[in-house]
Amino acid sequence: MAGETNVQSVRGMNDLLPGQIETWQRVEAAIREVSCRYGYREIRTPVVERTELFRRSIGEQTDIVEKEMYTFTDNNGDSLTLRPEATASCVRAGNEHGLLHNQTQRLWYVGPMFRHERPQKGRYRQFHQFGIEALGWAGSDIEAEIIAVGERLWSSLGITGLNLEINSLGSVSARANYRDALKAYLLDHVDALDADSQRRLERNPLRILDSKDSGTQEVLDGAPSLSDFLESAEREGFERLQQLLTAVNIRFSVNTRLVRGLDYYTGFVFEWTTDQLGAQSAICAGGRYDGLAEQLGGRAVPAAGFACGLERLIELVILQGEETPIQSPRVFVAALGEVAEVDAIRHAERLRGAGVDVQVNCGQGSLKKQLRRADNSSAEVAVIIDEEVAGTSAVKVKPLRGQGEQSTVPVNDLLASVQAITDSSN
Ligand code: ATP
Ligand code: MG
Repeated sequence: MAGETNVQSVRGMNDLLPGQIETWQRVEAAIREVSCRYGYREIRTPVVERTELFRRSIGEQTDIVEKEMYTFTDNNGDSLTLRPEATASCVRAGNEHGLLHNQTQRLWYVGPMFRHERPQKGRYRQFHQFGIEALGWAGSDIEAEIIAVGERLWSSLGITGLNLEINSLGSVSARANYRDALKAYLLDHVDALDADSQRRLERNPLRILDSKDSGTQEVLDGAPSLSDFLESAEREGFERLQQLLTAVNIRFSVNTRLVRGLDYYTGFVFEWTTDQLGAQSAICAGGRYDGLAEQLGGRAVPAAGFACGLERLIELVILQGEETPIQSPRVFVAALGEVAEVDAIRHAERLRGAGVDVQVNCGQGSLKKQLRRADNSSAEVAVIIDEEVAGTSAVKVKPLRGQGEQSTVPVNDLLASVQAITDSSN
């Protein structure tokens, strides 16, 4: 209707258009290949879950649950939420289908996640994550494996220069002791903390370690260190992990202030960051979450995994990786007149049946116009059916990228002559 305003997409939620999608598909193919190389298998869970799932897993006092979730009541009165992440869903599915009963699982997923944050470069309201979850293993070996999966993905995409930081958060009790000590220390310095950190002091003092505020950072320089609160088994496990990473030449640094924004982590945590994308520097993050399966009503299952932000990863691929070719047909079929139209669809279907990507002009037009479209399509060969050859057993074949002269060939030789031309340019 005239005068109506255009309907727009929801703020922070993006269309991925042809031209962009090729890079996405390449990254997704690399994800599938690398995950498979390590024996991880794909899982697809629903985009909508019961709100309770995230309240019980991510934690009531986290940014995600406090302010970032898309939660609504459906027609039955149930509170549902668009998933802000997928680890909880994987564990729920594992519990629900008995996948964790006397079994281990190596899982991966890719899909959209939803968080109501302030949209900016690298931060969206619908974004995508690739993640892996290893369910059922307690040791440092699986932790090193998970990190190796990430490293192999970066290298398969031609990405270098990511910084890997690791830390050990310790058991729930070690962390509780540390939390008390940290809180007591910070209370003595409360006036020097930034407002956000002051607010966090009561409810979630560990998150203050994340603060980028320089005043708060200075206070933290004198704070007790989490590493001093680890029990000896935790310390040994963390050292073992470092040995294993070193054995396969994975570079990392230990950052004792690295904490994660989700409550379910226990033990080791890690994060890959880049200095090439500005403020949104975290590419991939994860860790161990041994308590989660039980927290969701199942039996205790040791677990570890990570989630990688695809928008940020793809920005890096575009910056650093080799260029992804745009999808284009091999052959463009131009047809002049109604008889030619019949030949065009028949020849095109035969070529497609033989595995060739073919685009038919469709919609007639002068030969000049059709050949311009052929050129814009990036096809290598034009098959021309003009008045001279329409309805006969011959077609005209024209190389479009400087691979020789136009010729007239018998229809039975069409595939061979198309292949000869495309082969000559590869
Ligand atoms: P950040 O500190 O950037 O908010 P986070 O700690 O909330 O990240 P996780 O929940 O661990 O992130 O998610 C893993 C990855 O998902 C992040 O490292 C990032 O690459 C990506 N990610 C998280 N939130 C967004 C978002 N709103 N838009 C785009 N990518 C995101
Ligand atoms: Mg966040």
